[in-house]
Amino acid sequence: MSNTADVIIIGGGVQGSSLAFHLAQRGTKVIVLERQFIGAGATGRSSGLVRMHYDTEVDSRLAWVSFAYFQNWKEMVGGNCGFTRTGFIQIVEPHHVDALKANVKMHQDINIPALLITADDVKRLAPHLVTDDIEIAGYEPESGYAMPSDTANTLMNAARARGVKLVQDCSVTAIQITGGKVTGVETNQGTFSAPVIVNAAGAWADTLNKMVGLDLPYSTWRHDTMFVVRPPEVGTHPTVIDFGKEMYFRPEGNLTLVGLEDGNPLGESPDNDTERAQKGFVERAIDRLCLRMPAMEKGSLHSAHGGYDGITPDQHPMLGAAGPDGFYLDCGHSGTGFKTAPAVGLCMSELILDGAAKTVDISSLVPQRFAEGNLIKGNYENIWR
Ligand SMILES: Cc1cc2nc3c(=O)[nH]c(=O)nc-3n(C[C@H](O)[C@H](O)[C@H](O)COP(=O)(O)OP(=O)(O)OC[C@H]3O[C@@H](n4cnc5c(N)ncnc54)[C@H](O)[C@@H]3O)c2cc1C
Repeated sequence: MSNTADVIIIGGGVQGSSLAFHLAQRGTKVIVLERQFIGAGATGRSSGLVRMHYDTEVDSRLAWVSFAYFQNWKEMVGGNCGFTRTGFIQIVEPHHVDALKANVKMHQDINIPALLITADDVKRLAPHLVTDDIEIAGYEPESGYAMPSDTANTLMNAARARGVKLVQDCSVTAIQITGGKVTGVETNQGTFSAPVIVNAAGAWADTLNKMVGLDLPYSTWRHDTMFVVRPPEVGTHPTVIDFGKEMYFRPEGNLTLVGLEDGNPLGESPDNDTERAQKGFVERAIDRLCLRMPAMEKGSLHSAHGGYDGITPDQHPMLGAAGPDGFYLDCGHSGTGFKTAPAVGLCMSELILDGAAKTVDISSLVPQRFAEGNLIKGNYENIWR
């Protein structure tokens, strides 16, 4: 098979796979170069939450367009992404109630099925939750979670069925530039050529940006999660983000997956060990989970591990052209880029092929916004600490 294409995508996570799929649907010749295997990075570690609750319209729109894919995966992509509807509850502290109301109104204005519910409603939906501190919560009855590796692999399978060439165990080591334009890449498996190169390398993206002389504010974000076996009397529960407790949890069979939004180190090497969670994470996460769901005290630990994503100063992705002609960024998804991947891939394919994204206006996410001081701000403060 030829090593020449219209577009080279560096990175076979959910973002690179989605973009490959959408470009291939338009007949574009694509090569995906992945240094390990599909889903080896953040994607394979992702908690897979699929909800539309965000505090900026661009995120909610991307999540909402993506939601149609998650709900209709077989027809729109092929195969199974493991989408499971659980309902989603957003719990906030009293000082965030106004922001919650504004967010839910914004969601309703763009036709997302979202509503405000009372503490009594939360109790009815999730009888094991402590609700004394809740004034009002956000609720998305249709939301839930999907299986991240299955999502990325089915996107890549669909892309390959449309002619995309995937090369795994293939690490990009240099990017070739001639006359201010990208022309190809060098790898441990030889040279590949294309006039368009997309950096979808997640937590590793900064290394590739630097290969073309781009010095952007980009860091890494580590995030640990654990699975707990639920005591049988708890039954199941919705997916929950508990903003005040800096925690989220969702069910998966008889397990509950838990993540914390504090204590996630920035700037570490993404090649660090992720097979084990950081010291002390499990204890902190169990204590916090039991504050919201005391019955989980009778649960038992199933497993815990970590992952790394790329993060930017405003915790939003860098989407767009930057650096030499033909170089594009689809990276910096800052811990929330799973649920938006179907729409981001579609929008990036429109940007590359048509000059602008039309499905969702992603122009506010251009990489240049940091130099220009146009950082994204939501109704809640940034959430990863
Ligand atoms: C623990 C955890 C839980 C999360 N939970 C959620 C969630 O519930 N919902 C949500 O929406 N988001 C969640 N996220 C965020 C989401 O998973 C990521 O934003 C998303 O997976 C990023 O996808 P990606 O394709 O950009 O990056 P990755 O999946 O990291 O893919 C990048 C790929 O690039 C490859 N690569 C790197 N360097 C090179 C090179 N030089 N040459 C070739 N290939 C290279 C890597 O091997 C990797 O496979 C979570 C993230 C983590 C870490």
